[in-house]
Amino acid sequence: MAVNKENYHKIREELDANNVQLIAVSKIKPIEDILALYDLGQKDFGENYVQELVDKNSNITNKSINWHFIGHLQTNKVKYIANFVYLIHSVDSLKLLQEIDKQGKKNNRIINCLLQIYIATEETKYGLDENELTDILNEVNFGNLPNVSIEGLMGMASFSDDLTKVKQEFQNLRNIKSKYPQLQTLSMGMSQDYKTAIEEGSNMVRIGSLLFGERNSK
Ligand SMILES: *Cc1c(COP(=O)(O)O)cnc(C)c1O
Repeated sequence: MAVNKENYHKIREELDANNVQLIAVSKIKPIEDILALYDLGQKDFGENYVQELVDKNSNITNKSINWHFIGHLQTNKVKYIANFVYLIHSVDSLKLLQEIDKQGKKNNRIINCLLQIYIATEETKYGLDENELTDILNEVNFGNLPNVSIEGLMGMASFSDDLTKVKQEFQNLRNIKSKYPQLQTLSMGMSQDYKTAIEEGSNMVRIGSLLFGERNSK
């Protein structure tokens, strides 16, 4: 399925007007689709699977793409993406953050991270609660993790048509973020709910199917 350029321009305009950054979620989509959007000026792409991201990164040369890792990240796989990943959205444990720090050190770089907060009512979604968030931020403030930089928070709302409920979940995340002025980025909103997310203060949305068409599940 081809890239939807019309949607891209429309969404891009809408986001630019609100100072919201667009992450084009290209998981399971071919490299040609990524390059088609890149040619329209899109630089930030999001991927969910380590092996797929590693393959795409090594097969796309001479382009300045910012790769965002947005899927669930296993500790033992951090090492494969540590030398090039631009922002990891899905940090959901101190153990994972410690490993990212360790790999950052090995690669002589500081790796940008978002902490994923659990806001949905579904049991399948990963994420930290507020106590765990506080613990991790304390650890970072102590200076124990010099090779990571916590840029903000990420959350996924319930997969639901009930936008009132979704709005409430986004509101919840916005309120949590507002307690930590050092956190700049609020990554929330996908194809289905990005408009609601922007109303609730999102400044980074992760959009896949509206740009690349529906996915066959992996
Ligand atoms: C797949 C995915 C998206 C994009 O989903 P769409 O509904 O296709 O826009 C955004 N965020 C995360 C974490 C995802 O896994």
